[in-house]
Amino acid sequence: RGNAEKFEFQAEVSRLMDIIINSLYSNKDIFLRELISNASDALDKIRFLSLTDKEVLGEGDTAKLEIQIKLDKEKKILSLRDRGIGMTKEDLIKNLGTIAKSGTSAFVEKMQTSGDLNLIGQFGVGFYSVYLVADYVEVISKHNDDKQYVWESKADGAFAISEDTWNEPLGRGTEIRLHLREEAQEYLEESKLKELVKKYSEFINFPIYIWATKEVDVEVPADEDESSDEEETADSSSSEEGEDEDAEKSDDETEKKPKTKKIKETTSEWELLNDVKAIWLRSPKEVTDEEYTKFYHSLAKDFGDEKPMAWSHFNAEGDVEFKAVLFVPPKAPHDLYESYYNTNKANLKLYVRRVFISDEFDELLPKYLSFLKGLVDSDTLPLNVSREMLQAHSSLKTIKKKLIRKALDMIRKIAEEDPDESSGKDEKEVEKSSDDDEKKGQYTKFWNEFGKSIKLGIIEDATNRNRLAKLLRVESTKSDGKLTSLDQYISRMKSGQKDIFYITGSSKEQLEKSPFLERLKKKNYEVIYFTDPVDEYLMQYLMDYEGKQFQNVSKEGLKIGKDSKNKELKESFKELTKWWKGSLAGENVDDVKISNRLDNTPCVVVTSKFGWSANMERIMQSQTL
Ligand code: ADP
Ligand code: MG
Repeated sequence: RGNAEKFEFQAEVSRLMDIIINSLYSNKDIFLRELISNASDALDKIRFLSLTDKEVLGEGDTAKLEIQIKLDKEKKILSLRDRGIGMTKEDLIKNLGTIAKSGTSAFVEKMQTSGDLNLIGQFGVGFYSVYLVADYVEVISKHNDDKQYVWESKADGAFAISEDTWNEPLGRGTEIRLHLREEAQEYLEESKLKELVKKYSEFINFPIYIWATKEVDVEVPADEDESSDEEETADSSSSEEGEDEDAEKSDDETEKKPKTKKIKETTSEWELLNDVKAIWLRSPKEVTDEEYTKFYHSLAKDFGDEKPMAWSHFNAEGDVEFKAVLFVPPKAPHDLYESYYNTNKANLKLYVRRVFISDEFDELLPKYLSFLKGLVDSDTLPLNVSREMLQAHSSLKTIKKKLIRKALDMIRKIAEEDPDESSGKDEKEVEKSSDDDEKKGQYTKFWNEFGKSIKLGIIEDATNRNRLAKLLRVESTKSDGKLTSLDQYISRMKSGQKDIFYITGSSKEQLEKSPFLERLKKKNYEVIYFTDPVDEYLMQYLMDYEGKQFQNVSKEGLKIGKDSKNKELKESFKELTKWWKGSLAGENVDDVKISNRLDNTPCVVVTSKFGWSANMERIMQSQTL
């Protein structure tokens, strides 16, 4: 075409497209899910803009927020159209030629080895999945701020963009035309498309139509000449039984009445494929586990076959009304803790009265809970204000507070329902239920995926520190390689033991040999091992739990019960300690004391109560180096 401008795909996109094209991945259906999801996003965007400016919607059909699918069997084209926000020329170049999201290389690498495309939507490259089924794709788009353009590519490393002077004007929105590959002709079957749309669009909040062909009976005046037997039989066999007789009768009465006959005619009309009732508006009692699981998959764009670990669906009433569904994903995303403090990792979708507002509101949940997925639909927040004003709205604080409570309750329940967690208590008492097997080990799984988030929560959230500390799991000198809770630790404390003992270091193996533990172990005291670098920070915030202080056993001031001999020893070694302190004094040590924590080892270096532990020194050093 004369006015076409050529562009090359970013190298990474090209690589991705090559992989998709040559993929032997069997589930090619996923392209439809990605296209519908993009159409729905585009519709959400224009609807959001229309809240503050009605004009943007336009008039007539253009204003209809819907998705349409059409099949052209002759030309072998499947097209999907939305009346969403559309793309300007610049958008087309940027959105369908480069990859914005980080971590895509990692995805490409992973796909090359595993060949699993299921997670493509999570990486912000879902669009390219069209090349699983098409060898040539046209994207026609009209944005309010620009003319109508066509983007096209045969996935040969380049794409072209032309001003659209030949297609019908779209009004606004995007039409994607897939020229289907020879081996993907099944996507021209209406029944196949209907099945897929039903499967993938269950949670899409816009109507999806397909241009469906239908055979209908129409009554037409019988044409004397053409009323052959053949036609008559074909007609009557498909009509209702009662009418069969009528047909025969009318045969007899041919002479008297003006004759009519029924014939089959093919017509086409838009057929609605989905039911747009939002799952979160339904009563939790009516929603099945399977529906929640599917809803999670579509929300998280995580189409593996794993169930979410837990969910909480509730209706908050009072000053601030909202409905919410929260999920604990089955796995942590690969980049959960990457630049934790610098990036917005908000994962909740915010709706106001059924209208999607944003999924980038980090005011809804604190950072440490950003691993949760879900949505909030509020009736209290105003609809017709800017995102900035919403972000500052006072109700958000209340919503956030309630969400945190509900989230922590949901996590606590994972532990409560896990039969492994209650072991060590009275095992006879715990009744076995049918889903015990499913819940078994769930909390350990949760802890392995998201434990660090709980620790970060203890550091960041003073209000909920105690609730979070309840969710903490640790290993200790007595936990036998398993995890234990602080409550369990306390239940095992020796009589007269006041503090919760812990030690920090780089690994459990190293700590097990530590001379600091000699005496404590011998006296049968339990000591918690903290081996994650974040634990040092954690213990600066977690001072006490259930009225018990935490005591680092490598620090000065350790008291292990009463030690009657201590005073005597202090007296008899007075001269030695004095000499020792004198010869090491100054920058090297603060003090030299008789210790009550050793058994075999003659001496140890101990850090002062308020200073950094040796482990912390180690961590800080490795960070500055
Ligand atoms: P993602 O949807 O995760 O951003 P995709 O690869 O599916 O990644 O799409 C890339 C981008 O292309 C989208 O972010 C959007 O800006 C644009 N886009 C795709 N389809 C449409 C559409 N139907 N209408 C408007 N923009 C679209
Ligand atoms: Mg997408």
